[in-house]
Amino acid sequence: MEKHAPRKLVVGVTGGIGSGKTTVTDMLAEQGIDIIDADVVARLVVQPGTQALKQIAQHFGDEIIHADGSLDRSALRAKVFADADQRAWLESLLHPMIRQEIQLQLAQSQSPYSVLSSPLLFESGQHTLVDKVLLVDTSEELQLSRTQVRDDTSAEAVTAIMKAQWSRKKRQEHADLIILNDGSLAALKAAVLELHQQLLSLTAKGP
Ligand code: ADP
Repeated sequence: MEKHAPRKLVVGVTGGIGSGKTTVTDMLAEQGIDIIDADVVARLVVQPGTQALKQIAQHFGDEIIHADGSLDRSALRAKVFADADQRAWLESLLHPMIRQEIQLQLAQSQSPYSVLSSPLLFESGQHTLVDKVLLVDTSEELQLSRTQVRDDTSAEAVTAIMKAQWSRKKRQEHADLIILNDGSLAALKAAVLELHQQLLSLTAKGP
């Protein structure tokens, strides 16, 4: 009788803004690991022509659509920012679609294990799609300074985003694996390669 292939190990990578998630997942991608990025999927499901974008335009009005037919994210953000009911409406539309697309991409992944990178892994409930949670952990001071340099933005803007995300302590409490990213990029690379080997050996045993 034909055996079903065992389901592959899925590692969720999370961390606050500027913690180094992208840097870590880029390093894992270099090792041949498929990275599914929840932010990319979130943009994919509202591309011009999608059912989601039509529903959003019907609900909020055409003023949230750019002349070229794409979503005006800042106009939409302004509409839901101070209105919890509107935000809940939007999330109840988008979260299941995002989740479905993530599941599809995970199912198509061919690498020994796959990675779901999501800044809001817990907040969005996407942690239920992964077997292990890897936290890229950094001090709040480093998060702030690295993001300010990367995005050329103000401390206030970064702090506002950090406040909307889980605290460092809460994330640490929910992580299975932690990479501390408080040193050089070379030190980070060494830690990532060590973790990659660890995950490959876990994969050999199945999730
Ligand atoms: P995230 O994806 O979690 O928001 P990034 O991976 O984009 O974070 O990292 C934020 C910024 O900090 C980027 O510009 C990145 O190059 C830089 N960075 C990340 N880790 C380090 C490190 N160990 N040393 C120096 N710069 C770093």
